[in-house]
This record gives sequence, structure tokens and C-alpha cells, in this order.
Amino acid sequence: MSQRLQNRTAIVTGASSGLGRAISVLYAREGANVVCADLSPNVGGTHTKDELSGNEGGDTPTHELIEQQVGKGRATFVKVDVCDESSIEAMVAAAVEKYGRLDIIVNNAGITGVTKENEEAFVNGAGFRLHETSTESFDLTIRINTRGLFLGCKHAIKQMLKQEPLEANSRGDRTRGWIVNTASMLGLVAFPGAPAYVTSKHGAVGLTKQIAIDYAKDRIHCNALCPGFVDTPMISKIIAGPMGHPLTAAHPWQTLGKPEDVARVALFLVSEDAQWVTGVPMVIDGGVAETE
Ligand code: NAD
Repeated sequence: MSQRLQNRTAIVTGASSGLGRAISVLYAREGANVVCADLSPNVGGTHTKDELSGNEGGDTPTHELIEQQVGKGRATFVKVDVCDESSIEAMVAAAVEKYGRLDIIVNNAGITGVTKENEEAFVNGAGFRLHETSTESFDLTIRINTRGLFLGCKHAIKQMLKQEPLEANSRGDRTRGWIVNTASMLGLVAFPGAPAYVTSKHGAVGLTKQIAIDYAKDRIHCNALCPGFVDTPMISKIIAGPMGHPLTAAHPWQTLGKPEDVARVALFLVSEDAQWVTGVPMVIDGGVAETE
């Protein structure tokens, strides 16, 4: 495998599952040291086979999987709750203490905002409109999906501005860092019955664009991932329910995304190939948004 991220240090939040797990493993395979940050190192849910990590649905924590596959010392787990600012500050400090600097942050931790009360409607594809959405679940969704991203960006940027920028690239730019925010296709379009999630992800896209212009002069890249439906534990109940087949059939590609489809794009966005790419909500959805 190429070593596009050699000598880079990356933090990935939500690294214990789905997209965060695939991104962490791919970054490590490309040479990065990876801080795998999540509420717990334990892999939850039913993981699908992940061709990048070779993970067959096993429950080896992501940082251990990286150490097994890439090398000792190349990954570490840091407990973080993205709702808690002091926890985010401690996560950035832990990355710098272990690896000396911070080049990349992927703010990826997220939730659907589905609660026990409305799960049935979610699984059946009906969703829940605004008047049926509890204020608590709206608040929590914004707190994790949007405010959590703000905090991750804020403390990563503080560190990136403090440290010596990298050597000049072929454009002559000395990059200070790369930020990748996991938004969603639902950060660009609405979706029936998902007001909290859609609001939170539109916020994620807006924040990404704002950071891109405010920190361009500092040579900090900031882009967003806007995946369509990807087969991860987050949507495993929908996939297994009555909506599973129609959802797949709605895709021009006739398949759902895989975590590694998103991880490959997340790699591009922090690579030298994306030297002049910033502020972009990158859609990775097998064309499904075009069918709406
Ligand atoms: P997932 O449920 O498999 O993984 C999410 C991870 O985030 C979990 O490991 C969880 O522990 C962690 N997390 C949740 N709350 C946290 C908190 N407060 N602090 C720290 N970590 C926390 O989901 P996924 O599908 O891998 O989703 C990853 C990101 O991708 C999310 O932001 C999600 O909204 C987004 N996304 C997913 C899809 C999809 O179809 N799966 C599509 C578009 C966008």
C-alpha cells in the first residue's frame, strides 16, 4: 500500500464503529499514527465485512486491529465524549503528547437522534415529523452532530495554529492541517421524518464552509463527507427491516455504500492530491441524492 500519510498524526472520533473504524484503519495503513477516539474502545453492533481492514465483523477494538495489521505503537485509544469540551481538549492533548503534533482530525462521531419511543417509526421508514420530535432528542442530536463538531474543530485548530507547518508542497503551500467533518447527504437535502438529523447535518456543512474560508490563509483545509446510506451499525436496523430492500433499490447503483467507500474519499481529502480542495461537501452516495 502507498504511504500517503507518512509522519502524519490523525484523530478520528467515532473510531470504534462503522465509518470511523474504516477511516482509522485506512489512514494507519497509509502511514498515519491514529488516535482512535470514542466513548468506548469496544466495537458495538454487527459489523459488516470491511475489505480495507480485513475486519470480518470481529470485535477487536480499532486501535488493536491497527496494531495487529500495521504495527505496534501506531494507534492508541482515547476516551472522548464529543459533548464535553474538556474531554475534547484532553483528546487533542493526548494526541500531541503521544505523537508530538496533530495534522488531521476527522470529526465523525454522530447519532441518528432516534430514541426508544420513535425507533419503530424510524425502522419502518415513516420517520417522525417535527411535532413528533422530542425537544430532548433534537437537543442531543445537535449537541453531538453539530456542537461536537464545532468543539473538535476548535481545539484541533488551536493546536494546528500553534505548531510548525509542514514542508512546502508542490504549490509552495505549507499546510498546517486537514479537517474532515462527517456530515451526510442529509446535510444537503431534506429527508422525510428526520428534522433533527437533517438540521444537525446542514449545520455541519455550514460550519465546514465557514472554517474553510476563515482558515484558508493559515493553510488549514476543511472539507465534509456527505455519505448516502452506508451499511454500518447506525442503520443496521433499517437495513434488516421492511425498508431495507426499497432503500437499496432506490440507489442507481442498486447497493448501499460500504464503510470503505467513504474511507477512500476521506483519504483523498487529506492527501497531497487535494492540495487546493477546501470547503467542499463531498457527496459519496452511489447517486441516490439525484433520484429525490
Ligand atoms: P456508527 O453508529 O456505526 O458509529 C458512530 C460512532 O460514534 C460510535 O462508535 C459511537 O460510539 C460514536 N459516538 C456517538 N456519540 C458519541 C459521543 N458523544 N462522543 C464520542 N463518540 C460518540 O455510525 P456510522 O454509520 O459509522 O456513522 C459515522 C458518522 O457518519 C456519523 O456522523 C453519521 O451521522 C454519519 N453518516 C452515516 C451514514 C450511514 O448511512 N451510516 C450516512 C451519512 C452520514
